[in-house]
Amino acid sequence: MQVLAVTPEIFPLIKTGGLADVTGALPIALAGQGVTTRTLIPGYPVVLKAFRKKKPLHQYEALFGGKASVHGATVAGLDLLVLDAPHLFDRVGGPYGDARGVDWPDNWRRFAALSQVGADIAAGAIPGYQPDLVHAHDWQSAMTLAYMRYGAAAGVPSVMTVHNLAFQGQFGAGIFGELGLPATAMSLDGVEYYGGVGYLKAGLQAAWAITTVSPTYAQEIRTAEFGMGLDGLLNMRSGDLHGIVNGIDVDIWNPESDTHLASRYSQKSLRARKANKRAIEERCNLAHDDSPILCVISRLTWQKGMDILASTLDGLVAAGARLAVLGSGDHALEGALLAGASRHRGRLGVVIGYDEGLSHLMQAGCDAIVIPSRFEPCGLTQLYGLRYGCVPIVARTGGLADTVIEANEAAVSAGVATGFVFEPSDAGSFLHAVRRAVAAHADQAVWASLQKQGMKSDVSWVKSARKYADLYQTLMSRRSS
Ligand code: ADP
Repeated sequence: MQVLAVTPEIFPLIKTGGLADVTGALPIALAGQGVTTRTLIPGYPVVLKAFRKKKPLHQYEALFGGKASVHGATVAGLDLLVLDAPHLFDRVGGPYGDARGVDWPDNWRRFAALSQVGADIAAGAIPGYQPDLVHAHDWQSAMTLAYMRYGAAAGVPSVMTVHNLAFQGQFGAGIFGELGLPATAMSLDGVEYYGGVGYLKAGLQAAWAITTVSPTYAQEIRTAEFGMGLDGLLNMRSGDLHGIVNGIDVDIWNPESDTHLASRYSQKSLRARKANKRAIEERCNLAHDDSPILCVISRLTWQKGMDILASTLDGLVAAGARLAVLGSGDHALEGALLAGASRHRGRLGVVIGYDEGLSHLMQAGCDAIVIPSRFEPCGLTQLYGLRYGCVPIVARTGGLADTVIEANEAAVSAGVATGFVFEPSDAGSFLHAVRRAVAAHADQAVWASLQKQGMKSDVSWVKSARKYADLYQTLMSRRSS
């Protein structure tokens, strides 16, 4: 089976969050299920730099205001189709905004263009290549499914995956005329959304099937609390809505071979984690002692509960924990965490920025990872934590609830617990969980059992890739019937 994936990010080329990890790892896992994936991505400068352009596979004289071409490339085992459209993607800054993080004003045009090209490829624009199914990821590629629905590829099955419902791609009605869609598309069951144009909404409406990245989140987004205005539509389509939990790339995230670590280890040699703990103390200016180091590797935002974390720093230190933070985001939160670090020298270390290598070392050297998210579609850092023996302390929401087994007394005695799960996501419950974790850390046998049980959890893509392959198969048979 040939699948065309469309995504604005893919690891290892361009990543701002978990979406890239998923689109980078899923094709490799799907290959084991007999599914061949080609992935269409925008030709950002870092992407174009990663391969040598050959003869284009398809060309446009004018694509949303400029010349464009599609190139084939293989990078890190991924079969890519790169949309080279300099007027849209050749810019200094991030994939969605400038160096200061301000969104590009023409994002609606950039990702409509990506989507238009996705739909053209679905309709056979590349000679000798006809995908059996199209899989779009998040709002930036969601319009692919709208262009397919109102164009020549309406008969091609499609899947829309929501990695985070909070990002929807909503624009004013004024852009509709430039999208090149028929007038009928500007309707309640089309791309229209609260009087404007909704990209994710359009994809959810047009998709043959909708998936999101954990079973619990698939239920949560059908409620007003988590539905972000789309719960009505998601309820209407609940028969086509599936929750498939993310896996991780267990070759890249492998404590036995990870080159970012000071010392590699396995379940059987957990003592070797100590050298990584010492390395974290150095990197994060923490005192040298044996108290537990909790870590955070995260976007610093309200969604991630980073304001809850910032309000509990004193309590966390009083509970006997140290904290190492790696992240960037909201400037006020960055400031609050840095202020905490200067109040508690040696107990609290904060690194503002994005550092893939340090994120690996933290999982390998810290004792626990804290994730007090208000909502979390799946979450990947708790999965890395499980794999690295860095015990997760998580809010009971979305994928966090689906992947961590709470260390209540029964689960600890049965030896099945893998972490600490608290609710509601507020300062009181969070600190209570931290105190429980600090107490458990003092009992070496209990702590080692939590670590080993986590390291035994199957966090690979194998099971979930099979679920995607089964879903693809079901949609294919619906097409032929
Ligand atoms: P989200 O996609 O909502 O940001 P996820 O937990 O799904 O959250 O994925 C976040 C990914 O980004 C993980 O791979 C995590 O390790 C990585 N990450 C987040 N912040 C940083 C950072 N400051 N430095 C390095 N990696 C980071």
